[in-house]
Amino acid sequence: MNVNELHIIYGNKPEKMVKKVLSAIEIEKELKPGMLIGIKPNLILASPSEEGATTSPEIVEGVIRYLKEKGFNNIIILESSWVGARTKKAFKVCGYEEIAERYDVQLYDLKQDSYREITVKDLNLRVCEKALEVDYLINMPVLKAHCQTKLTCALKNLKGCIPDQEKRRFHSLGLHKPIGYLNKVLKSQLIIVDAINGDLTFEEGGNPVQMDRIIAGKDPVLVDSYGASLIGYSGEEIEYIKIAASIGVGTNDLERAKIIEYDTDLKNSQRFKHSRKVERLARKIEARNACSACYGSLIHALKRLEEKGKLAKIDKVYIGQGFRGKSIDGTGIGICTRGFSRSLKGCPPSAREIVEFILDLVHQ
Ligand code: SF4
Repeated sequence: MNVNELHIIYGNKPEKMVKKVLSAIEIEKELKPGMLIGIKPNLILASPSEEGATTSPEIVEGVIRYLKEKGFNNIIILESSWVGARTKKAFKVCGYEEIAERYDVQLYDLKQDSYREITVKDLNLRVCEKALEVDYLINMPVLKAHCQTKLTCALKNLKGCIPDQEKRRFHSLGLHKPIGYLNKVLKSQLIIVDAINGDLTFEEGGNPVQMDRIIAGKDPVLVDSYGASLIGYSGEEIEYIKIAASIGVGTNDLERAKIIEYDTDLKNSQRFKHSRKVERLARKIEARNACSACYGSLIHALKRLEEKGKLAKIDKVYIGQGFRGKSIDGTGIGICTRGFSRSLKGCPPSAREIVEFILDLVHQ
């Protein structure tokens, strides 16, 4: 798999989806017999993945099954939940204890681990030993918004590989620089993003937005730049993406990405369940047979527009396959609404594209 590739698969069967992507990219070609493979999910707290905060155990299970089928058995799952949360409880509540038992995989609570001090340029970083020992790190974040850093995805997920005391220090340093620098020390060999159901606003979940995608890549900066666009930001707006790019962790130039999509016909889904916060945004939407990938982008875009103080200026926005072939005087999102007087093409468009399109309209 080339470092500039981003593989996107749509659907709502996470285990099947991830196995399909892994066989397309043939990660076994990068692995050597006996190497220690570390899986780093996001288990920030003890909350099931349906709440939008933690990595779906089904995706992790799919990865483990694939690796085992290819003869790689030296696998561990490692995590340290955020300060104040018990990782062991998160392993249990999020379904990881069962996976560990079923596949004979060890769970490492990095809160119990020792650490090593490593200097990157002018910054000393403390990094958990076990994370440094891993030969091949599979970084498995959730794509979600974050109240301080706007985005949390691949780069920030590695913050779960440092001691609690160091996490507090990261916050005192403003998060961005230490997150960027940490990724210079800890290299993600493969990133598999759970973009099935990530949160609208907070890393602790509670307002999941159905996006029904898994993203795989090798460059965490590129993956995060793409992830940012899916929830309505440009990579330029996320400070730690720029910092990581500036010190050579990867590229934030999405123009250079080769995007390979699978199962684009499985974008369709009708299972929208709204939290109260999402429900408020959804009142702006007139949907008819909208695909989850499209609808989720629009929800994220409306939230970003609300953050910019523009939500009140927006009238109804139309979306969905039910508007194909209709000529309506209104604002439509996605290729299905191309007959509208104002329509954004794309199938699905990213939240970032929606934000720019609507900002243009409200400024006219
Ligand atoms: S543009 Fe239409 S078909 Fe394409 S993702 Fe959106 S709703 Fe689905």
